[in-house]
Amino acid sequence: MTSSGTPSAAGRFPAGRRAFPHRDLVGIAQLERHEILYLLEEAEQWVSLNRQSAKHTDNLAGLTIINAFFENSTRTLLSFEIAGKRLGADVVNMHAAQSSVKKGETLIDTAMTLNAMHADAIVIRHGSSGAVELIASKVDCPVLNAGDGQHEHPTQALLDALALRHALRERGQNADDFTGLTVTICGDILHSRVARSNVLCLQALGASVRLCAPPALMPQGIDAMGVEVFHDFDAALSGTDVAMMLRLQNERMQGQFIPSAREYHHLYGLTAKRLAARAPDALVMHPGPMNRGVEIDSDVADMLDRSIITRQVEMGVAIRMACLDVLTRKARGVAGWADGEWV
Ligand code: ASP
Repeated sequence: MTSSGTPSAAGRFPAGRRAFPHRDLVGIAQLERHEILYLLEEAEQWVSLNRQSAKHTDNLAGLTIINAFFENSTRTLLSFEIAGKRLGADVVNMHAAQSSVKKGETLIDTAMTLNAMHADAIVIRHGSSGAVELIASKVDCPVLNAGDGQHEHPTQALLDALALRHALRERGQNADDFTGLTVTICGDILHSRVARSNVLCLQALGASVRLCAPPALMPQGIDAMGVEVFHDFDAALSGTDVAMMLRLQNERMQGQFIPSAREYHHLYGLTAKRLAARAPDALVMHPGPMNRGVEIDSDVADMLDRSIITRQVEMGVAIRMACLDVLTRKARGVAGWADGEWV
């Protein structure tokens, strides 16, 4: 995106607003395949910019972005904040611990308050599935989902796709889409919004997805999403191209889901030995935060040629820049908008 506002991916995607007709980014479920590809394409310019020493643009100058985080976050909050600042916006972070939410304010009241402050985009993380969609229905500006309960984490899936694209390209493999690629997602699938968004995104881009977890951590009926379900990690890993590991989301567990972390590691931990035996060329991914020694061993997480975990973090900033940039085009009156419609 140039500061004049001309979409850089124009020509290869539907023109104007049709390239991305949504006001909000609530989930991957609402996106068409070409819209996912459009956001990935838009992010490439920000990957390049972020690798330069001067990383500032004024695309969003004068706009206010509120990051309203009702749940803890390290990577996502920081990366949305950096993304907004690199685009030139005024970025304000609201942490639930310091907000009136603790005093009993309802979610709708919080939404109305944020709205009254004339934010130009609101980024929300919330512990309840559906909370982001509810807030989006009450405010006048674009809303971006930074993770809602066990539902979706769309920017995580998009950044994972972008990181995978870059890694495949470096290996000389086709990365335009993921047709022919098998991705195994292993861990606490039951409580993971990352797993859900990734299944949708990876499948939209043509990949086959295997899900692996102990029976207690696998949602019932998940096979209806067109995934292959495994409870044996060695079988799930055999011949996979990508191993995406997820942590046990203890904060969402009510009761005992696994006998012990040690036993979990034995059955479902990604070790160098297991990887060498079952998927010697597979790329390794993890959305973070990692519990080293539980779902993934340190020597695997730090493998220079295989692990793309830090690349995922890098791509997170670029993807969030792309999403903020695309969703605020209307507010910025970017060329193509007329009478409230981007034509
Ligand atoms: N950071 C990811 C999320 O917010 C994954 C995790 O917390 O395990 O869902």
